[in-house]
Amino acid sequence: MTAVLPAITNLSARVIRILGCNPGPMTLQGTNSYLIGTGKCRILLDTSDEGKTDYMDALSNLLKKLDVRLEAILLTHWHHDHVGCIGAIDKDKSLHSHNGCTFHKMPRKDADETKEKHYPVQIKPVIDGQKFYTEGATIRAVFTPGHTTDHTAFVLEEENALFSGDCVLGEGTTVLETLSDYMRSLYLMKGLKADILYPGHGPHNLDAGSVIGQYIAHREKREKQVLECLQQNGEMTIEEIVRSVYKGLPEHLILAASQNVHQHLEKLMEEGRVEEVGEKYRVKQNYKL
Ligand SMILES: [Zn+2]
Repeated sequence: MTAVLPAITNLSARVIRILGCNPGPMTLQGTNSYLIGTGKCRILLDTSDEGKTDYMDALSNLLKKLDVRLEAILLTHWHHDHVGCIGAIDKDKSLHSHNGCTFHKMPRKDADETKEKHYPVQIKPVIDGQKFYTEGATIRAVFTPGHTTDHTAFVLEEENALFSGDCVLGEGTTVLETLSDYMRSLYLMKGLKADILYPGHGPHNLDAGSVIGQYIAHREKREKQVLECLQQNGEMTIEEIVRSVYKGLPEHLILAASQNVHQHLEKLMEEGRVEEVGEKYRVKQNYKL
């Protein structure tokens, strides 16, 4: 059951959450968009899906009510539910500060975003460790690939808070592109020792370390199960592993579980712990559990 979140919430003295008004099975209560800072010019982190006029109205009304404008938009990653409103924000100059409004995102490694016309606005490339300043807030970019190749978390230094994007959600499990990168990013985020977690979806959490720890434990437990299963049974196909590890899983969830096991096998092969034999997989001879 997902918690019901109000459309606009003051989360702290310098962070206001605006819901993306795009709830769904993949977005939970919708994308979390965050207005950050304390001054007349503020930074917005992530937006919503394209065409979400409810979100644009909520954002515009909030800015008018506070009598503030946007000076920069930071994007955690390329997924449509995060970048979809950048065109609408760019067009509505009444939202921009006197110096205008700039858009920032880490470039993707799996697509050339400079050649194709991916975005309706000019996006400035974010560099790992780059800092963004606005009155009352210093925000540092932390490259955290795995969910996507461009995924970037952001630390709000004044609160020791982590905007985790889709790397760690407030509820539920994140979908991944590369598990090995993703695990490295989880450990990196845990090492930041942030206090507050502001996730890409779902409620915020005042114990960031424990949420990230649970994500790590969940993936590591699954990896151990896959390895033990191969150790006990010898050579197995992905489906055989799924049916053994996820006993009693309803048929319609087998495909999703297979993708999950496949990602674990890819990671284990990268690490030289498992090898492929035709359609099957087995633990490498010299590898001990
Ligand atoms: Zn995403």
